[in-house]
Amino acid sequence: MRKEIFNKIFDFFLPRICPACNHKLNPTEEIICDNCFDKLKLTPESLIAEEYHKKFSIKKYIRDFHPVFIFEKDREIQHIIHALKYNRRSHIGIYFGKIIGNQIKDKLDNWEIDLIIPVPLHKVKKAERGYNQSEFIARGISAQTGIRWNKKIISRKKYTETQTHLTAEERQSNVKDAFKLKDKNAVDGKNILLVDDVITTGSTISECAHQLILAGAKEIYATSIAIAE
Ligand SMILES: [Zn+2]
Repeated sequence: MRKEIFNKIFDFFLPRICPACNHKLNPTEEIICDNCFDKLKLTPESLIAEEYHKKFSIKKYIRDFHPVFIFEKDREIQHIIHALKYNRRSHIGIYFGKIIGNQIKDKLDNWEIDLIIPVPLHKVKKAERGYNQSEFIARGISAQTGIRWNKKIISRKKYTETQTHLTAEERQSNVKDAFKLKDKNAVDGKNILLVDDVITTGSTISECAHQLILAGAKEIYATSIAIAE
Protein backbone atom coordinates (compact mmCIF):
# COMPACT_ATOMS: atom_id res chain seq x y z
CA MET A 1 0.00 0.00 0.00
CA ARG A 2 2.78 2.44 0.88
CA LYS A 3 4.33 1.74 -2.48
CA GLU A 4 1.05 2.59 -4.20
CA ILE A 5 0.88 5.94 -2.43
CA PHE A 6 4.49 6.61 -3.35
CA ASN A 7 3.75 5.66 -6.98
CA LYS A 8 0.73 7.97 -7.00
CA ILE A 9 2.77 10.95 -5.86
CA PHE A 10 5.68 10.08 -8.12
CA ASP A 11 3.41 9.56 -11.17
CA PHE A 12 1.93 13.02 -10.64
CA PHE A 13 5.29 14.65 -11.29
CA LEU A 14 6.87 12.16 -13.65
CA PRO A 15 4.47 9.57 -15.06
CA ARG A 16 5.87 6.07 -15.29
CA ILE A 17 5.36 4.66 -18.77
CA CYS A 18 4.81 1.05 -19.84
CA PRO A 19 7.66 0.24 -22.30
CA ALA A 20 5.39 -2.09 -24.29
CA CYS A 21 2.47 0.26 -25.08
CA ASN A 22 3.76 3.70 -23.94
CA HIS A 23 0.69 4.32 -21.79
CA LYS A 24 0.91 5.64 -18.24
CA LEU A 25 1.12 3.00 -15.55
CA ASN A 26 -1.46 2.85 -12.76
CA PRO A 27 -0.17 3.26 -9.20
CA THR A 28 -0.69 -0.49 -8.67
CA GLU A 29 1.26 -1.45 -11.79
CA GLU A 30 5.00 -1.99 -11.79
CA ILE A 31 7.22 -1.58 -14.87
CA ILE A 32 4.78 -3.25 -17.34
CA CYS A 33 1.03 -2.50 -17.45
CA ASP A 34 -1.30 -5.40 -16.61
CA ASN A 35 -2.78 -5.36 -20.09
CA CYS A 36 0.60 -5.86 -21.80
CA PHE A 37 1.79 -8.33 -19.18
CA ASP A 38 -1.22 -10.55 -19.90
CA LYS A 39 -0.23 -10.65 -23.56
CA LEU A 40 3.24 -12.09 -22.90
CA LYS A 41 3.45 -15.78 -23.81
CA LEU A 42 5.16 -18.22 -21.47
CA THR A 43 7.38 -20.74 -23.25
CA PRO A 44 5.79 -24.20 -23.04
CA GLU A 45 7.98 -27.18 -22.09
CA SER A 46 7.38 -28.78 -25.50
CA LEU A 47 8.92 -25.75 -27.26
CA ILE A 48 11.82 -25.68 -24.79
CA ALA A 49 12.63 -29.33 -25.59
CA GLU A 50 12.39 -28.67 -29.32
CA GLU A 51 14.58 -25.55 -29.11
CA TYR A 52 17.13 -27.27 -26.89
CA HIS A 53 17.49 -29.92 -29.53
CA LYS A 54 17.94 -27.31 -32.25
CA LYS A 55 20.32 -24.98 -30.43
CA PHE A 56 22.37 -27.01 -27.95
CA SER A 57 22.12 -30.76 -28.54
CA ILE A 58 25.14 -31.01 -30.85
CA LYS A 59 27.74 -29.33 -28.67
CA LYS A 60 26.02 -29.97 -25.33
CA TYR A 61 27.91 -27.21 -23.49
CA ILE A 62 24.52 -26.14 -22.14
CA ARG A 63 23.07 -28.95 -20.01
CA ASP A 64 19.53 -27.54 -19.96
CA PHE A 65 17.81 -24.18 -20.39
CA HIS A 66 14.60 -22.34 -19.74
CA PRO A 67 13.80 -19.08 -21.56
CA VAL A 68 10.67 -17.73 -19.84
CA PHE A 69 8.78 -15.94 -22.63
CA ILE A 70 8.42 -16.34 -26.38
CA PHE A 71 9.94 -13.46 -28.37
CA GLU A 72 7.45 -12.08 -30.89
CA LYS A 73 8.38 -9.42 -33.42
CA ASP A 74 6.46 -6.12 -33.20
CA ARG A 75 4.72 -7.32 -30.04
CA GLU A 76 4.95 -6.29 -26.36
CA ILE A 77 7.98 -8.47 -25.64
CA GLN A 78 10.05 -6.86 -28.40
CA HIS A 79 9.27 -3.35 -27.13
CA ILE A 80 10.17 -4.41 -23.59
CA ILE A 81 13.52 -5.93 -24.63
CA HIS A 82 14.29 -2.90 -26.77
CA ALA A 83 13.64 -0.51 -23.87
CA LEU A 84 15.81 -2.67 -21.59
CA LYS A 85 18.73 -2.70 -24.03
CA TYR A 86 18.71 0.70 -25.66
CA ASN A 87 16.58 3.15 -23.66
CA ARG A 88 18.51 2.96 -20.40
CA ARG A 89 15.62 1.32 -18.61
CA SER A 90 17.81 -1.12 -16.70
CA HIS A 91 15.23 -1.65 -13.92
CA ILE A 92 13.20 -3.68 -16.46
CA GLY A 93 16.03 -6.23 -16.18
CA ILE A 94 15.73 -6.53 -12.40
CA TYR A 95 11.94 -6.83 -12.67
CA PHE A 96 12.15 -9.66 -15.22
CA GLY A 97 15.01 -11.29 -13.32
CA LYS A 98 12.68 -11.62 -10.33
CA ILE A 99 9.97 -13.09 -12.58
CA ILE A 100 12.48 -15.61 -13.97
CA GLY A 101 13.61 -16.53 -10.44
CA ASN A 102 10.01 -17.14 -9.49
CA GLN A 103 8.97 -18.98 -12.67
CA ILE A 104 11.85 -21.45 -12.77
CA LYS A 105 12.44 -21.84 -9.04
CA ASP A 106 11.92 -25.62 -9.09
CA LYS A 107 14.34 -26.06 -11.98
CA LEU A 108 17.00 -23.95 -10.27
CA ASP A 109 16.65 -26.18 -7.19
CA ASN A 110 16.96 -29.28 -9.36
CA TRP A 111 19.94 -27.92 -11.23
CA GLU A 112 21.62 -27.07 -7.89
CA ILE A 113 22.94 -23.77 -9.19
CA ASP A 114 25.93 -22.39 -7.26
CA LEU A 115 26.46 -19.22 -9.21
CA ILE A 116 24.67 -16.92 -11.67
CA ILE A 117 26.77 -15.32 -14.43
CA PRO A 118 25.39 -12.73 -16.89
CA VAL A 119 26.64 -13.08 -20.48
CA PRO A 120 29.19 -10.25 -20.70
CA LEU A 121 29.19 -7.41 -23.20
CA HIS A 122 32.39 -6.09 -24.75
CA LYS A 123 33.54 -3.03 -22.77
CA VAL A 124 33.06 -0.73 -25.78
CA LYS A 125 29.49 -1.89 -26.24
CA LYS A 126 28.86 -1.60 -22.52
CA ALA A 127 30.17 1.97 -22.57
CA GLU A 128 27.91 2.81 -25.53
CA ARG A 129 24.78 1.44 -23.82
CA GLY A 130 25.78 2.55 -20.35
CA TYR A 131 25.33 -0.91 -18.83
CA ASN A 132 25.01 -4.62 -19.57
CA GLN A 133 21.31 -5.47 -19.48
CA SER A 134 22.05 -9.11 -18.56
CA GLU A 135 23.69 -8.00 -15.30
CA PHE A 136 20.39 -6.49 -14.18
CA ILE A 137 18.51 -9.69 -15.05
CA ALA A 138 21.09 -11.67 -13.05
CA ARG A 139 20.66 -9.26 -10.12
CA GLY A 140 16.89 -9.80 -10.20
CA ILE A 141 17.23 -13.61 -10.25
CA SER A 142 19.71 -13.40 -7.39
CA ALA A 143 17.40 -11.15 -5.34
CA GLN A 144 14.52 -13.56 -5.85
CA THR A 145 16.41 -16.82 -5.21
CA GLY A 146 19.27 -15.92 -2.89
CA ILE A 147 21.78 -17.53 -5.29
CA ARG A 148 24.81 -15.29 -5.65
CA TRP A 149 25.80 -13.71 -8.95
CA ASN A 150 29.12 -12.44 -10.25
CA LYS A 151 29.89 -10.34 -13.31
CA LYS A 152 33.67 -10.41 -12.97
CA ILE A 153 34.36 -14.03 -13.87
CA ILE A 154 34.25 -13.92 -17.64
CA SER A 155 34.74 -11.04 -20.07
CA ARG A 156 34.19 -10.48 -23.75
CA LYS A 157 37.42 -9.83 -25.56
CA LYS A 158 36.09 -9.72 -29.10
CA TYR A 159 33.94 -6.85 -30.28
CA THR A 160 31.15 -8.31 -32.40
CA GLU A 161 28.75 -6.18 -34.38
CA THR A 162 25.08 -6.87 -33.82
CA GLN A 163 24.44 -10.39 -35.06
CA THR A 164 20.84 -10.08 -36.18
CA HIS A 165 21.67 -10.13 -39.89
CA LEU A 166 24.02 -13.11 -39.69
CA THR A 167 23.19 -16.75 -40.41
CA ALA A 168 23.57 -19.37 -37.69
CA GLU A 169 26.92 -20.49 -39.12
CA GLU A 170 28.21 -16.93 -39.36
CA ARG A 171 27.18 -16.26 -35.77
CA GLN A 172 29.03 -19.33 -34.61
CA SER A 173 32.33 -18.31 -36.17
CA ASN A 174 31.67 -14.75 -35.06
CA VAL A 175 31.60 -15.69 -31.36
CA LYS A 176 34.47 -18.17 -31.50
CA ASP A 177 37.09 -17.17 -28.92
CA ALA A 178 34.95 -14.17 -27.99
CA PHE A 179 35.23 -14.77 -24.24
CA LYS A 180 38.08 -14.75 -21.79
CA LEU A 181 37.98 -16.29 -18.35
CA LYS A 182 39.25 -13.99 -15.61
CA ASP A 183 38.72 -16.11 -12.51
CA LYS A 184 39.12 -19.89 -12.94
CA ASN A 185 38.94 -20.66 -9.22
CA ALA A 186 35.48 -19.13 -8.99
CA VAL A 187 33.94 -21.65 -11.42
CA ASP A 188 35.87 -24.83 -10.61
CA GLY A 189 33.41 -27.64 -9.86
CA LYS A 190 30.44 -25.26 -9.86
CA ASN A 191 27.00 -25.50 -11.45
CA ILE A 192 26.47 -22.22 -13.25
CA LEU A 193 23.40 -20.45 -14.59
CA LEU A 194 24.18 -18.22 -17.59
CA VAL A 195 21.79 -15.31 -18.12
CA ASP A 196 20.99 -13.38 -21.29
CA ASP A 197 18.12 -11.14 -22.42
CA VAL A 198 17.17 -13.09 -25.56
CA ILE A 199 18.48 -16.46 -26.72
CA THR A 200 18.37 -16.62 -30.52
CA THR A 201 20.64 -19.19 -32.19
CA GLY A 202 22.23 -19.98 -28.84
CA SER A 203 25.74 -19.65 -30.29
CA THR A 204 26.82 -16.83 -27.93
CA ILE A 205 25.66 -18.49 -24.73
CA SER A 206 27.01 -21.85 -25.92
CA GLU A 207 30.48 -20.40 -26.53
CA CYS A 208 30.38 -18.71 -23.13
CA ALA A 209 29.49 -22.08 -21.56
CA HIS A 210 32.34 -23.71 -23.49
CA GLN A 211 34.89 -21.41 -21.84
CA LEU A 212 33.43 -22.06 -18.39
CA ILE A 213 33.64 -25.83 -18.94
CA LEU A 214 37.26 -25.53 -20.11
CA ALA A 215 37.92 -23.71 -16.83
CA GLY A 216 36.55 -26.63 -14.81
CA ALA A 217 32.89 -25.73 -14.24
CA LYS A 218 30.66 -28.76 -13.59
CA GLU A 219 27.39 -28.10 -15.46
CA ILE A 220 26.19 -25.00 -17.30
CA TYR A 221 22.51 -24.10 -17.51
CA ALA A 222 20.94 -21.08 -19.20
CA THR A 223 17.96 -18.80 -18.87
CA SER A 224 16.71 -15.65 -20.56
CA ILE A 225 13.72 -13.37 -20.63
CA ALA A 226 12.84 -14.61 -24.09
CA ILE A 227 13.54 -17.13 -26.82
CA ALA A 228 13.59 -16.27 -30.51
CA GLU A 229 13.53 -18.87 -33.23
ZN1 LIG B 1 1.44 -1.60 -21.59
